[in-house]
Amino acid sequence: MTAVLTGGRVELVNPATEQPAGEVHFASVAEADEAILRAHRAFEHWRTVAPADRGRLLRAFAALVDAHVEELAQLEVRNSGHPIGNARWEAGNVRDVLNYYSAAPERLSGRQIPVAGGLDVTFSEPLGVVGIIVPWNFPMPVAGWGFAPALAAGNTVVLKPAELTPLTALRLGELALEAGLPEDVFTVLPGEGPVVGQRFVTHELVRKVCFTGSVRVGQQIMRGAADSMKRITLELGGKSANIVFADSDLAEAARTAPGSVFDNAGQDCCARSRILVEAGVLDRFLELLEPAVRDVRVIDPRDEASEMGPLISDARRQAVSSFVEGDSMDVAFRGSVPDGAGFWYPPTVVLPKSTADRVWRDEVFGPVVSVLPFTDEADAVAKANDSQYGLSGSIWTRNLGRALRVSRGVEAGNLSVNSHSSVRYSTPFGGFKQSGFGRELGPDALDSFTEIKNVFFSHD
Ligand code: NAD
Repeated sequence: MTAVLTGGRVELVNPATEQPAGEVHFASVAEADEAILRAHRAFEHWRTVAPADRGRLLRAFAALVDAHVEELAQLEVRNSGHPIGNARWEAGNVRDVLNYYSAAPERLSGRQIPVAGGLDVTFSEPLGVVGIIVPWNFPMPVAGWGFAPALAAGNTVVLKPAELTPLTALRLGELALEAGLPEDVFTVLPGEGPVVGQRFVTHELVRKVCFTGSVRVGQQIMRGAADSMKRITLELGGKSANIVFADSDLAEAARTAPGSVFDNAGQDCCARSRILVEAGVLDRFLELLEPAVRDVRVIDPRDEASEMGPLISDARRQAVSSFVEGDSMDVAFRGSVPDGAGFWYPPTVVLPKSTADRVWRDEVFGPVVSVLPFTDEADAVAKANDSQYGLSGSIWTRNLGRALRVSRGVEAGNLSVNSHSSVRYSTPFGGFKQSGFGRELGPDALDSFTEIKNVFFSHD
């Protein structure tokens, strides 16, 4: 965990070594208020910057991120314990998202609507200051999915990284300035959720809050936003199903299943943490899954061969462990972890007794996957949907009709047939049910950072 030093300074911990990872200043409410006011003033200018120039600045920002991918990735390895290969992908994702939305300022257009007596047109107006609240599991991508479209649409941004993982966000803030974004257009404010994050929710000059995190805090934000009728996007938890039919390429489904849940040590809202296997092939599937799980390379995240790093903190490790050791789960098999310091937990496959078990129902947010059988297509869909969450999921089958029927039947925002892909910068991402609402990425995200204004010009 972080240790609070004097003057709002906090010491960060490298989760792979338990050694200091750096120090950071946590903002106070007064500092958050000052940053929001400055962002509000900056908005008056930023909204008037010519669309082509706004696009150019975002491309310059993307180019600087590209030039610093290695530095950002190394910083993330130190602060978050992500395997170096993953961290490079994460930094590259910020670059790609910035490039994608850099085209938006010149393409955000309204409509001309036929009416009597004059000309009616709509404008897509920016909202003002947007507050972005980011969790610790993917500090760079989740930040970029918020700030890139928000800035492209003409808003200014105040961004609060998670307490445990602020280092890469701070560096991105510096790169934005270096790229030429005007002062106070994009401000990174590390701090505590109930202090800085909560201030984003209550401050009247913050016009929208984009929150990614737990359902519990998402609910608090939704309640708090009601007073000022603040716009919100909520990207919350998940308990995604990986449905494997007997007619699928079973070997491929088993080979890829570990990556779909143990990536980022299972601290992934899209983790396919419930595997549903057609009953007749369950034993065969488990036989194929076992070597794939044992082969996951859980080693020093600085090692190029690392596939899974440690958990973010000892508290997280204890929470994960409580699902398995605490509940005396039937562990089918598990991988290994390095000896010595670090918040390690092995990739673990459990066989719950029923769908009522806590490990099947709750988000573990660690490298634990549960496997249960289903009888037929209807049972698979019913079991997949028997969850408060609806973020992501996979369907493995060679039957096209079944793939279509099941993908229409499963209540989730992002499904993938015969693969485990969830996120592409050009396609919408977000949840059903308690996984939240609103969509990030793709063309739809821009709408959530603008208001439609309708203006009628009379002929007379
Ligand atoms: P969290 O809800 O504890 O914290 C998330 C962020 O909210 C942090 O920056 C925290 O400081 C801030 N926060 C805490 N209390 C606050 C308050 N009262 N007001 C305003 N802000 C506050 O979540 P976490 O533990 O950091 O992240 C894990 C959760 O995030 C998991 O449930 C995971 O599924 C979810 N997640 C969802 C997505 C998605 O896109 N759907 C992506 C990543 C993570």
